[in-house]
Amino acid sequence: MATAFKVPFAPRGSLLGPDEAAAVAGIVCSPQSLSAGVWRQRFEARFRDYVGTAHALSVTSGTVALEIAVSLLDLTEGDEVIVAPQTYQAMVQPLLDHPARVRFCDIDPRSLNIDPVILERMLSVNTKAVILVHYGGCPADMSRIMSAARGVGALVIEDCAHALGAELGGRRPGALADIGCFSFHSSKNITTLGEGGMLTFDRDDWAERVDRRRSNEVDATFVARVPGVKAPLALQWMRDAEHIYQSACSTVRRAGTNATLSEAAAAVGLVQMDKLQGFVERRRSIAAALDEVVARQPGFTTVRAEPDARHAYHLYTFLAGCREERDLLLCLLDGRGVEIQLRYFPQHLRPEWALRGHRPGECPVAESSWFDRHMNLPCHPGLSDAQVEYLVFAVEASIREVVVSRARPSHAV
Ligand SMILES: *Cc1c(COP(=O)(O)O)cnc(C)c1O
Repeated sequence: MATAFKVPFAPRGSLLGPDEAAAVAGIVCSPQSLSAGVWRQRFEARFRDYVGTAHALSVTSGTVALEIAVSLLDLTEGDEVIVAPQTYQAMVQPLLDHPARVRFCDIDPRSLNIDPVILERMLSVNTKAVILVHYGGCPADMSRIMSAARGVGALVIEDCAHALGAELGGRRPGALADIGCFSFHSSKNITTLGEGGMLTFDRDDWAERVDRRRSNEVDATFVARVPGVKAPLALQWMRDAEHIYQSACSTVRRAGTNATLSEAAAAVGLVQMDKLQGFVERRRSIAAALDEVVARQPGFTTVRAEPDARHAYHLYTFLAGCREERDLLLCLLDGRGVEIQLRYFPQHLRPEWALRGHRPGECPVAESSWFDRHMNLPCHPGLSDAQVEYLVFAVEASIREVVVSRARPSHAV
C-alpha cells in the first residue's frame, strides 16, 4: 500500500466536481453524437478566444499535440531542431521519428527555462525549429527568443503543458510563438477527464493539415482532378465518393490518425475553463507562501519569472545550494509527510538520446540542477488550507534543520 502523505504532491480528483459531473451526465443522456460534435467546437472556440490565436484544435493528449506540431515542420536531413532539456520526455520524443539533428540548449538557472543567450549562439541557418517549454508555468523570455529565431528563419513551438493560466506582457502562452501545445492530463492545470490536448496557432494551412491528420485523413498535397477518371454511376450521388474520385495526391506527407477528443471530455474542458483563473490563483497563493519561507534562508534560490510575467505555478521549484543539502531536505520533508516528485530528469541523458550521441556535459546547468540542487514542492490547488499551512511549517522547519547542519563538521544525510 502506498504511504499516505500528509501533503500529497497532487491530490487526486480534486479539480473535478458536480459541475463537471453534470456536464458528462447531460451528454450521456442526450441523443447527440458522443464524438466530434458541438461540445468540441464550443471548447475549441473558448480556448482560441482565451489564448488569442486564430485556431485551436483539440486532440487526445498533449503528446499527440506535440507529435502533430513536429510533423508540421516537414523536417528533412540536414535540418536542426534546438530543444530545452529540462522537460517531460513527450516534448522531445517525437523528434526520434524525424531525420533532423537534435541539439539540446541549456537552461537559465534563474528561470529554469531555455537560456536565450546560449540559444542565440546555437541558432544557425540550419535551425528549422526551436521547441521550448514554459517550465513549471513560468513563461520563457519569448521576446528575445522570438527575435533570435526569426533572425535565422526558425519556427518556435511552445510546449504549454504547464502554462495554461500564465501570461507574458499581457499575452498568453500558446500565442507567443508559432505553435502552442497544451495538455489536459489529470495532473495539469485543467483536465478533460484525465486525457486531452490542444494545438494553437494562426496559420490556416496548418489548421487544414491538423484537422485532416486528427480525423483519419492523410496529410498530403492534392492536385487537380485526374482527367478521365469518373465515379461509377451508382456512387455519383455520394459527395464523398465523388471527391475521392476527383482528387489526386502529388505527395503524402504523413498518415492520418484518430485523435478526436470525445464530446464528454470537451464539455468537461469547457467547465474547467471557467475555473482556470481560480485554480491558478490558488497555485499562486501557495507559491507565494512557500517563496517567503524558502527565500528567507541563505543558500536557497527561488525561481524568478520575467518582470512582466504571470507564473502559473504548475510546479513550484526552488534550488538548494548543493547536493548534500538538497538530499537532506528531501529526507526531512519525506519524514514530515510531504510528498516530493522531482521534475525533470535532463532529457539528453535518457538512453534514447545517449544512443544518438548525447552526453553529460552538454547542458551543465540542467545537469547540476537535477543532480545537485533541484526541488519541487506540492502547490496543487486541491490542497486544503490546513495542508498548505502544514506544508509551509514543514518546509520552514526542514530548511532550518539544513541550515543548522551547516555548522556541523560534515553534513549527515
Ligand atoms: C504532460 C506533459 C506533456 C504531455 O502531455 P500528455 O497530455 O500527458 O500527453 C508534454 N510536455 C510536458 C512539459 C508535460 O508536462
